[in-house]
Amino acid sequence: SARDADARLEETAGLALAIGVDVRHRVPFRVRAPKPGTLIGSGQVDQLAQMVRDEDLQLAVFDAALTPVQQRNLETALGCKVIDRTGLILEIFGERARTAEGRLQVELAHLDYQAGRLVRSWTHLERQRGGFGFLGGPGETQIEADRRLIRDRMARLRRELDAVSRTRTLHRDRRQRAPWPVVALVGYTNAGKSTLFNRLTGADVMAENLLFATLDPTLRQVSLPGIDKAILSDTVGFVSDLPTQLVAAFKATLEEVVSADLLIHVRDVAHPDTAAQASDVEAVLREIGVDDTTPRIEAWNKLDLLSEDDRTEMLGEAAHREDIVALSALTGEGVDRLIRTVGDRLTEGHRRYRIALA
Ligand code: GDP
Repeated sequence: SARDADARLEETAGLALAIGVDVRHRVPFRVRAPKPGTLIGSGQVDQLAQMVRDEDLQLAVFDAALTPVQQRNLETALGCKVIDRTGLILEIFGERARTAEGRLQVELAHLDYQAGRLVRSWTHLERQRGGFGFLGGPGETQIEADRRLIRDRMARLRRELDAVSRTRTLHRDRRQRAPWPVVALVGYTNAGKSTLFNRLTGADVMAENLLFATLDPTLRQVSLPGIDKAILSDTVGFVSDLPTQLVAAFKATLEEVVSADLLIHVRDVAHPDTAAQASDVEAVLREIGVDDTTPRIEAWNKLDLLSEDDRTEMLGEAAHREDIVALSALTGEGVDRLIRTVGDRLTEGHRRYRIALA
């Protein structure tokens, strides 16, 4: 439907914003019959090329999977860099991956993506065009050499990955013995995880209850009511239709989540698809091996965007539930309650733990 298409375009724009792209236009296209050479029709290509020229734009992001040929043809026709959905998500993973394993997985996925582009873009066209070198790319021998380089690098990465995952298991065992609970923020892209993370770890927030020390930009040590020390972790956002080559990289960037003691599932309740997004997130959590017994709190975010009626309804529902806190990460409303709830859940866990030991 048109609303789904709009929401999807908005999500992609959000992903681009997340890596610092200044998004100037969102251009919805209906692609009825995809063109093998350029995906979109020539009229649409001209329209985009005009925009690129008029405003000196640097980048066009296609919310689709482009074939290597389409990507290169579009770059030539538009006169700017073109990336597709997989390319965009790879950029984000590259920025957010912070564990050694996550970085290696992302690099591996990137090389895999590149290798596919090398092979198909040139061999295809050269065959099609009788070797006239339409794109002016390197010859077959150069491609072979590049492919070999990529294959070697990928083999090396796989070996490093093996070694890293062995050490990681050791580290995790060690951390599990340390008495620090890990609280991970999870949720759909744009749900407000970073905003909430910053608010929870902001120097001005409830100074007497919370003490923060920076461990990593996305990993902070926190003190919560009743809890001496906890680690709060911000993770990469979930997106719809994750390209399959990226699933391993994605899992590696979510490593903290799997071993977390408590999850805060941040939901954008002002989003029309909030229920579908929430079940997507739950499905991914199961897929990456998060135990159903891991306690979670739903943070119903963006309360400030709701109509008075919706707001009253949400607050009413949340008031009856121990595992839901309605809030606005932007205005700060409800954040105190979230902090108390997190503290309660973690101390509950500790109590249970002690009883189990006694
Ligand atoms: P993330 O992708 O989950 O980390 O989401 P961000 O924290 O980057 O937030 C996505 C967008 O939603 C940003 O433009 C935020 O300013 C906005 N946002 C986050 N929380 C709220 C909120 O409580 N209310 C409103 N109105 N906007 C919010």
